[in-house]
Amino acid sequence: MATDCLFCKISTGEIPATIRYEDEDLIAFEDISPQAPHHILIVPRKHIRTTLDLTTADNQLIGRIYQVAGKLANDLGFAQDGFRIVNNCNEAGGQVVWHLHFHLLGGRDLSWPPG
Ligand code: 5GP
Ligand code: ZN
Repeated sequence: MATDCLFCKISTGEIPATIRYEDEDLIAFEDISPQAPHHILIVPRKHIRTTLDLTTADNQLIGRIYQVAGKLANDLGFAQDGFRIVNNCNEAGGQVVWHLHFHLLGGRDLSWPPG
């Protein structure tokens, strides 16, 4: 846990969020500024700064994030229409929270390429 990290604080419950899924390793909650009708952040509880900080020890964790994303998309009813999973890495990639997270976006047509 990083003491000054927003997503660590959401993971421990110190800062509230609308939680859609949680287990020992992961938490998924509504984005505070949704960019689609469904916009959920899937976050490892472990403080990992960016995609570049992943190690082979995290391989299973990342696989589980994709499984949880698919399960949420199914449970919330937009899986068959289609959805997007996004990880922003570093400044030019659009990252503003320095704790690894994956955006799950669905519920509308998503244009390509992204901005
Ligand atoms: P990034 O740009 O780092 O990939 O995404 C960070 C995301 O965190 C943004 O979509 C932003 O809306 C979301 N966010 C920022 N602060 C909060 C917060 O306090 N609570 C929640 N639930 N989401 C937040
Ligand atoms: Zn953190």
